Amino acid sequence: MNTAARLVPTHESQIRTRLASLRAELLEQERRLCGTVAGAGRLVVALRPERAAPRDGSPQALAAEIREELEQIDAALARLAAGTYDCCEVCGDPIDATRHAIVPFARTCTECALDAEE
Ligand SMILES: [Zn+2]
Repeated sequence: MNTAARLVPTHESQIRTRLASLRAELLEQERRLCGTVAGAGRLVVALRPERAAPRDGSPQALAAEIREELEQIDAALARLAAGTYDCCEVCGDPIDATRHAIVPFARTCTECALDAEE
């Protein structure tokens, strides 16, 4: 693994903007969930194509996923402020920029994420 490329300010502000808009979408999604479940389901598909279907599809499961994601976004913003955003929380390796492009609130590198899912 090569050394971690530190975040340049422009990059960091782009991440911040991305996380903020994702956060806004999730909050909107959470708000809609109280009204129409169908609308929220479509938004989940738009936000997380790799996990189109929530675990059991119930509004409760959907709401739990949204809350979980909001917490992860808040944590990512905190790591961004602390300068540890691109460090894997498990092994300390730099997190691949491609992984962050797909999951902007990822806190582990791809390898550790795969280990955790097994
Ligand atoms: Zn790792």
